Amino acid sequence: MKLHNFSSGPAILPQSVMEEAAKAVIDWDGMGLSILEISHRSKPFVAVMDEAQQLTKELLNIGDDYSVLFLTGGASSQFYMTAMNLLGDTETAAYIDTGNWSAKAIKEAKVFGNVVEVASSKAGKYVHIPKEFTLPNDTKYLHITTNNTVQGTQFHQIPEVNVPIVADMSSDIFSRTIDIEKYGLIYAGAQKNMGPAGTTMVIVRNDFVGKINRQIPTMLNYQTHIDKGSMFNTPPVFPVFVSLLTLRWLKAQGGVEAIQKINEAKAKLVYDEIDVNPCFRGRVETADRSLMNVTFFAQTPELETAFFEVAKAANISGVGGYRTIGGFRASIYNAMSMASVEHLVKTMRDFAKENA
Ligand SMILES: *Cc1c(COP(=O)(O)O)cnc(C)c1O
Repeated sequence: MKLHNFSSGPAILPQSVMEEAAKAVIDWDGMGLSILEISHRSKPFVAVMDEAQQLTKELLNIGDDYSVLFLTGGASSQFYMTAMNLLGDTETAAYIDTGNWSAKAIKEAKVFGNVVEVASSKAGKYVHIPKEFTLPNDTKYLHITTNNTVQGTQFHQIPEVNVPIVADMSSDIFSRTIDIEKYGLIYAGAQKNMGPAGTTMVIVRNDFVGKINRQIPTMLNYQTHIDKGSMFNTPPVFPVFVSLLTLRWLKAQGGVEAIQKINEAKAKLVYDEIDVNPCFRGRVETADRSLMNVTFFAQTPELETAFFEVAKAANISGVGGYRTIGGFRASIYNAMSMASVEHLVKTMRDFAKENA
């Protein structure tokens, strides 16, 4: 029996995608071969890579002045790769600290250049998104984490700045429309909203790289992967394939604009329940609530323990909060159905009838 999976990542994928992927592991498209045992230089896989890149551009409305790469090393490797490629020793990058992941990005960038933390919500336990900040005059780029997976906050207004933005979109890529013009580079680990763990998407404006004169190892140089169409070495074949299946599914749902409306409706349902339910309270400031990761607490430790039991009995999985925060976190990525969200909300409502 399939559980209602609210895991933060690796996370839910569309059921049809998992079924198609499972089939391709045994026999891909009647070829008599598994997707796991074919050459990445074979025609069928080259077609997968091409389509995954094209579909990404189509879904996010991106032109050919950008490249779409499928790299390895996780979003965590992008914390240093971005700065290594984009920030010279004496140059300055501005960072907004909105949570655990941004703090890690800041730490890594400091290895390569001058990093100015222009705003932080750390003192307030990261329950809001800072909106007031000033960029140093010589800022090369501004780095933000658009959705804070751990905290449950999200930028609903992307800052208006006169420098390119470098964005970690690991947990909200493809969940809402973006204005690509604002970005020099976007990166996202696949395992939250795009596919399985094992690949990281990088969308980079071609003329944003190659501007600093540092020696960069070949594999860590974006230019290498831009020049070779993300096929310099063996790409993560299976994660790219499953990501493509997910992107095709997304297109069939009507694309990013359509899924954004559904995501807004799903999030509203859960937040509305949290706001009226006497057993729970939300964790973060209302204006900055994430559409992807809904964080909330029970009113007492007893209610918390009790609700974990009730959720488990209701086949709800993955609703535990991050280990340092506790409470609950319901991740409601693109593939999470409205029906599962309604099931969670009903379980919370019934819980209140029994326990409030
Ligand atoms: C999960 C996550 C990461 C880390 O991704 P890895 O692929 O595990 O390195 C980074 N940033 C954000 C916003 C995340 O949600």
